[in-house]
Amino acid sequence: MTEHNAKNESLNIESRLAQIGSVQEPVTGAINFPIYQSTAFRHPALGKSTGFDYIRTTNPTRAVLEQAAAELESGDAGFACSSGMAALQTIFSLFGQGDHLIVSLDLYGGTYRLLERILSKFGITASYVDTNDLEAMEQIRQENTRAVFIETPTNPLMMITDIAAVAGWAKQHNLLTVVDNTLLSPFFQRPIELGADIVIHSATKYLGGHNDVLAGLIITKGKELSEEMAFLHNSIGAVLSPTDSYQLMRGMKTLALRMERHEYNATAIATHLQQHPQIAQVYYPALPDHPGHEVQNRQSSGNTGIFSFKVTDARYVEPLLRHIKLIAFAESLGGVESLMTYPAIQTHADIPLEIRDAIGVDDRLLRFSVGIEHVDDLIADLDHALEAARLEVEGA
Ligand SMILES: *Cc1c(COP(=O)(O)O)cnc(C)c1O
Repeated sequence: MTEHNAKNESLNIESRLAQIGSVQEPVTGAINFPIYQSTAFRHPALGKSTGFDYIRTTNPTRAVLEQAAAELESGDAGFACSSGMAALQTIFSLFGQGDHLIVSLDLYGGTYRLLERILSKFGITASYVDTNDLEAMEQIRQENTRAVFIETPTNPLMMITDIAAVAGWAKQHNLLTVVDNTLLSPFFQRPIELGADIVIHSATKYLGGHNDVLAGLIITKGKELSEEMAFLHNSIGAVLSPTDSYQLMRGMKTLALRMERHEYNATAIATHLQQHPQIAQVYYPALPDHPGHEVQNRQSSGNTGIFSFKVTDARYVEPLLRHIKLIAFAESLGGVESLMTYPAIQTHADIPLEIRDAIGVDDRLLRFSVGIEHVDDLIADLDHALEAARLEVEGA
């Protein structure tokens, strides 16, 4: 495996993705790395190990995935978890009683719920702030602040944070920088190269990419932090199964192709909706008028396939979701199939109304995870549903 990895360093990311798991499997030469469905591994002799002892600590299939994840994100170690939330719980277990975190204001609802309903019980507190505003961050920083947690772009409002600026500020104050990179994937953005210490993915989304596997990934930079994370990963035990590890690698092989198509489709549809009379606003960093456009272009090589938009009248929402056919009304994002969701009552229902209002997650906002279908079919589906919604509202 070591020889293979040395060869990998010089390859472009597309090649490294396509070749995940295609190590020289010494016995059969299998192109795809096998699923080692074994919880225990025989010891050759007393005091000797093959490197594998017990499945929770490590498993050959999971290890190949973890090494690929670490390489793709330019980190030192990777950890595959049973979900994105399991990855977050493992990361937050670095902290304890009396520790304080600075967190992005527009945040995945599940992360907010974990912090406020569970970690709070263990004496960990969080302050939510616009992570583009270093002055505001300085103001809420406390003696006991340990880390900054950011999402960029955020979901659903697609706010962009300058990762290098935050990581630089955090380093000055001896804080860890943790980046949720779910929406861009390492194909488009690598936060560790910009100074972050930890990257987390809901691999359920773009990395898996087919709406068929639940998984999370943690990537760490630095020996000490990687060792601490390995300890937490094994001790907490929210690890990924060998079968799901295989399934995730299967998805990741086509990440480059998928991300290019997601971006192409999303850009075309976002541009189309900007001109539409029933659309009040489109939130997508690829659009030149997006406030984060410049920073996004500087720190990433492409755009996510998700954007949000506000209809001009909240009454359009219900019939629109009823009339879309090709696009499914469903939660989640990042898969080949297009999904549309209503954040105010679904993904973000756990975020208090004051915060939702302050950032603009209101009853006119819809989030669209654009799949890899033909762009003309997606636009036709949307246009048809918007027109049907207009007729229903006007006729009412
Ligand atoms: C989905 C998601 C999570 C949670 O991941 P699960 O795999 O659903 O547990 C965390 N962060 C972001 C940005 C997400 O989209």
